[in-house]
Amino acid sequence: MVLNVGSSTIKYKIFRGEVEVGSGLIDRIGDKPVFLHDGFEESIRINNHEEGIRVIREYLDGKGFLIEAIGHRVVHGLDISESRLIDGEVFGKIEMAAPLAPLHNPPELAVIKACKSFGVPQIAVFDTSFHQTVPQVAYTYALPREIIEKYSIRRYGFHGISHMYVSLNEPGRVISCHLGNGASVAAIRDGKCVDTSMGFTPLEGLIMGSRTGDLDPGVILFLLNQGFTTQELNDMFNKRSGLLGLSGESNDVRELVESEGEGAKLAMDVFIYRLIKYIGAYVSVLGGLDCLIFTGGIGENEWSIRERVVGSLSYLGAELDEERNLSNQEIISSEKSQVLVKVKKTNEEAIIAREVYRLIGGSI
Ligand code: ADP
Repeated sequence: MVLNVGSSTIKYKIFRGEVEVGSGLIDRIGDKPVFLHDGFEESIRINNHEEGIRVIREYLDGKGFLIEAIGHRVVHGLDISESRLIDGEVFGKIEMAAPLAPLHNPPELAVIKACKSFGVPQIAVFDTSFHQTVPQVAYTYALPREIIEKYSIRRYGFHGISHMYVSLNEPGRVISCHLGNGASVAAIRDGKCVDTSMGFTPLEGLIMGSRTGDLDPGVILFLLNQGFTTQELNDMFNKRSGLLGLSGESNDVRELVESEGEGAKLAMDVFIYRLIKYIGAYVSVLGGLDCLIFTGGIGENEWSIRERVVGSLSYLGAELDEERNLSNQEIISSEKSQVLVKVKKTNEEAIIAREVYRLIGGSI
């Protein structure tokens, strides 16, 4: 069983070998929760993540599933560089990282605890691990050294499971663009991540659905001086900025590309400009580009964004095949393009399942 936990959700998928044989979702934990499973939706009475796991366990027991191991997507693992069987030390690290990922690590810890009732090995697969190969020059912020060391302040990077999945078996110099509600870019050389756009928290980097991305720290100081509290700024930067904040309409790219609104146009222009800028920076980091990959809800579906981004890379000899791009094919570059451009559907659960098999010594 693979679990992906959010602040008010628990998603599960059941794998037999590589085949997904069941899935479900508990949504809106804490506020009229619902349990969606096998095409059904039922209202349930639960108050927290622990109770959610109990409901899932009873449901799976009823269906006759015998769970042999559990894989957890864990957002923050500090400096843990690979997937790990969860023991006291790993649990402690996830706890230590909780202040750095306050919306994710605490419910993940609650779920890991609750899953002890299954009596099977539990494995943590971290969103941060893939980025542990990023070199010091790329992960260091220029703050006083003692502050960096005291608070473990550095760029960690997120979406690592997705960047790893889509770049598997892609040799050479690769840039992976994960464009969903959260969005990040990763520069990868021969399968190893060398830079990524998210930093100490997932706020840094690209414009996102409702997050700012890069912001001058001076703006934060200025707004604090205007009387905003840290809680208000946290809310503004995470939930009311990005595409939503700029457009004043929506965080959904499907709506923004159709909209006639001035704000919607500005939001899309700024989103694409920032993405092009990051790709340009990573082309320099990698010394060229062999393969550009788009993934996430936006990357997998929105041909017009891919067209504008790849259009900006004509200086590298990148060229799209228009038909293929319009129909979201896996390879969307033309025959004569000097950069391979791909659309890949991300599958974080498949990577987690694979890691579980690898660590418990089973075979797929
Ligand atoms: P999350 O980061 O929450 O997992 P997703 O990867 O599912 O998000 O991406 C969600 C975003 O993908 C939506 O907000 C929407 O903007 C975009 N999206 C989804 N489907 C389409 C589509 N068919 N065309 C354009 N954009 C889409």
